[in-house]
Amino acid sequence: MKVKNVVVGAGLAGLTIAQRIASEWQEEVLVIEKRDHIGGNVFDSYNEDGILIHNYGPHIFHTNDKGVYEYLSKFTEWNDFWHRVLTYVDGNLIPMPITVETINKLYNLNLSCEEVEEFIKKQAVAIDEIKTSKDVALSKVGVDIYEKFFENYTKKQWGIDPGEIDTSVISRIPIRYNRDTRYFTDRYQGMPKHGYTKMCQNMIADKKIKILLNTDYKEIIDDLDYELLIYTGPTDYFYNYKHGQLAYRSIDFKFETMDCEKYQEAPVVNYPNDYDFTRITEFKQMTWQENKKTTILKEFPCSEGEPYYPFPTKECKEQFALYQEEMKRETKVHFLGRLAEYRYYNMDAVVRSALDLFDSLEKK
Ligand code: FAD
Ligand code: UDP
Repeated sequence: MKVKNVVVGAGLAGLTIAQRIASEWQEEVLVIEKRDHIGGNVFDSYNEDGILIHNYGPHIFHTNDKGVYEYLSKFTEWNDFWHRVLTYVDGNLIPMPITVETINKLYNLNLSCEEVEEFIKKQAVAIDEIKTSKDVALSKVGVDIYEKFFENYTKKQWGIDPGEIDTSVISRIPIRYNRDTRYFTDRYQGMPKHGYTKMCQNMIADKKIKILLNTDYKEIIDDLDYELLIYTGPTDYFYNYKHGQLAYRSIDFKFETMDCEKYQEAPVVNYPNDYDFTRITEFKQMTWQENKKTTILKEFPCSEGEPYYPFPTKECKEQFALYQEEMKRETKVHFLGRLAEYRYYNMDAVVRSALDLFDSLEKK
């Protein structure tokens, strides 16, 4: 069958590129998705109690990229949402990331911003060459804060010691010498007013976009005569594991609905040192839904299961580099997104890459 443009994967990466092809080139595009829904990991749905949940973990949109914000705003309005996280340490719920409020609450102090900066800098460990996430944390906040907030959470999340993990992972968490306790400080933040799935449906409203669900692309790709293939699935699978299986971290998501209106003090509470889960999300606090019940989500990281997080070690990067050599030689195939590029991408960065990739393509 002749299909000029094929996209594998109906996540944000795949849908963005499909939307651009249909609207800018006015061409048909076939999106092949192995799950029974669109949206990839941003998929959300209403549970049996009528509460909107994020089926693959809490997703908060935040960006400084005006272009990405304006692009997605064509498909959704936004509810204002400034994400806040508390973390359970030494029996107290303490604001995360590390701010002046965190230090004062943790040590029962009443320091000013300048005093907190001095206090943290005094604890910081001098490290000549920052090579791992452990180095990042120790060099910024010292041993006590590292042990209380980062060490065990990271071990739970990744299953290995922060001393074996790439610097980029713990660097995601800022250290602030001020009282701003928001989790993100990006200029644009929010939740799609009617949910991510609705936003994704709006992205593919164009009739030139055909979606084929419940289909692994390998079941049909040999029957398709295409000129362009955008692949957003795992790269090792694309190459039949030629250079071995790439490691991913997975998560076992456990939802519970409680017979109360509010469960916890913040939309997300982290548990670095207690329990087997990393955090609890309470969805109603992100979406302002009204309901007599509330649904929470506990995340249990694990190594088997759906690939969610590319594994952030030097060895994995080196293994992926072997695939990258193969990827460079492709002429009709472009690799895009969290799985295909094996990158710890946020939503806005994925959309940015998709927009840029589209701009670099030549219409044939
Ligand atoms: P995906 O969403 O994974 O889409 C890839 C699609 O390809 C999937 O639907 C998959 O089923 C399909 N596919 C795979 N293999 C095949 C195949 N063989 N055949 C057909 N289809 C296939 N980002 C933020 O900005 N803010 C957040 O708060 C945030 N929270 C997150 C929380 C969690 C727990 C996780 C895991 C991620 C979070 N992210 C967050 C990141 C965000 O989910 C990603 O940036 C984004 O969803 C990536 O989109 P994608 O299209 O690259 O990948
Ligand atoms: N992290 C931590 N303690 C926390 C929160 C995060 O040690 O309370 C570390 C952990 O290694 C995690 C990384 O910081 O994987 C990035 O956290 P973020 O909240 O950005 O992770 P996400 O949920 O977005 O993947």
